[in-house]
Amino acid sequence: DGLGAPTADQVDALSKHFPLCMKEMHIALRRDAKLKYDGREQYSVFLKGLGLSLPEALTFWRRSFRTTTDDDFNKNYRYNVRWQYGDVGGDANRRAHGRAPKSCQRLLTEPLPKPGQTHGCPYRTYARENLERALKDDMGVRDPQVLAQVRDDVGRQRYHVACNRVFEHLHAREIKKVKDENIWGAAELDTILHPNTYFKRSFLLKQ
Ligand code: SF4
Repeated sequence: DGLGAPTADQVDALSKHFPLCMKEMHIALRRDAKLKYDGREQYSVFLKGLGLSLPEALTFWRRSFRTTTDDDFNKNYRYNVRWQYGDVGGDANRRAHGRAPKSCQRLLTEPLPKPGQTHGCPYRTYARENLERALKDDMGVRDPQVLAQVRDDVGRQRYHVACNRVFEHLHAREIKKVKDENIWGAAELDTILHPNTYFKRSFLLKQ
């Protein structure tokens, strides 16, 4: 599908295809040079779902924690990344698969993040002003009508509907093209229910 196996260096460029949940964690990681445990877990398995190999993931996390010493990284973070990839810990079955990337359903039903944490689905977890700021600044959504519709979706707790609406807005031209030219059928444009589907679809549409 053209995606191949991304390297640690390519994650910044690929982040333009991320849904809001993963975009926010990527931005927080770049800003703070760290990410709390739940955020790391959510983001790391998402990157694994993108095809980032274990060695590339270790490079990515090591470089991202740029203010952390090698010693601290090796003691406190390296094992966890390896664990998510099934490289250490658990039985043979778990090791064969590692941790699976979380679906929207999972992310939308987990306990809400505490202050200072960034994980979860921002359509659910962010206060209204912060969500609008993130949509404008981090996703580039400026159309007042779309923002009003998102507000309405969120008010009805239809978070993944809001997310799909943003996707359709940001990819309107590309979606029209694949529909008009019969390149993609309805199945390929089904409602997005997984952050990795959001990424993959965005990546493929923007090729
Ligand atoms: Fe992420 Fe799913 Fe929420 Fe979209 S609806 S921001 S993909 S968790």
